Amino acid sequence: MGRSARSTFVVQPGKTHPRDYPADAPSKGPDDKTEGGTALAELRSKLAVQQDMLYARGAEGDPRSILLVLQGMDTSGKGGVTGDVVSAFNPAGVRFASFKAPTSEELKHDFLWRIHKQVPAAGLIGVFDRSHYEDVLVVKVRKLAEASVIEQRYSRINDFEAELTASGVTVVKCFLHISFDEQRERLLARLDDPAKHWKFREGDIDDRQLWPAFEDAYATALGRCSTAQSPWYVIPSNKKWYRNWAIASILLETFEDMNLSYPEVDLDFKRLKERLAPPN
Ligand code: AMP
Ligand code: MG
Repeated sequence: MGRSARSTFVVQPGKTHPRDYPADAPSKGPDDKTEGGTALAELRSKLAVQQDMLYARGAEGDPRSILLVLQGMDTSGKGGVTGDVVSAFNPAGVRFASFKAPTSEELKHDFLWRIHKQVPAAGLIGVFDRSHYEDVLVVKVRKLAEASVIEQRYSRINDFEAELTASGVTVVKCFLHISFDEQRERLLARLDDPAKHWKFREGDIDDRQLWPAFEDAYATALGRCSTAQSPWYVIPSNKKWYRNWAIASILLETFEDMNLSYPEVDLDFKRLKERLAPPN
């Protein structure tokens, strides 16, 4: 298929503003919802096999794990990716965490305190619905901390992620990129669907009014926290089927780079089978 998904979606140096990237489905990959669905089904089975090996290895002492970080504006599909892609994995091997406005206890600690606690252990796949990046996004836009404090956080984040990488956690950061118009459609759809009313917060409209400031904050975060080891991927997310395909593809490539296999365990098969022989 030519270029890998990772090289297609990785943020380019000097080009970090969301407006520099398509939110609509580009030509690479599936062309429509039907093709996207077929491709996703195939990716999901492959992902499940990879995860099974990761989990098995974790149980046998391989320290590696994967952390999928999902960021994006309200309605961008962070929950959708969890339902459509992460659901390919056995839940026993998934560590899911969503980060809301910090509690009063969390606020008394460093911003990374609550994040550290959710880092996936060996063999697991961590999924962050929002993350430590909120502390340089909403916190910056809403001025919830001193500018000088926020300024230090970019390098704190890079150091933190470098430490994760060194300890065996592969960090995969996806920015779910939707357009301003698409968000309006999705917020309206939430109002029209009783099954989605519970997701509606009027605060989402307040954040929407700050859209350009959020985009600028994303541009800074994507620019300053995209490293060789843990780059940002910008996922065109106006089309859910495209978004799902792109993230599943990036995850599969990440797994394939890990060259996983089932752990070799020293078993005396003959003796064990003898012990399992029916009593005569
Ligand atoms: P949702 O993801 O729709 O459940 O909303 C969670 C809300 O928590 C969003 O409005 C986020 O901006 C907010 N949030 C998450 N992390 C932080 C943080 N560190 N500081 C302030 N607000 C946050
Ligand atoms: Mg919300």
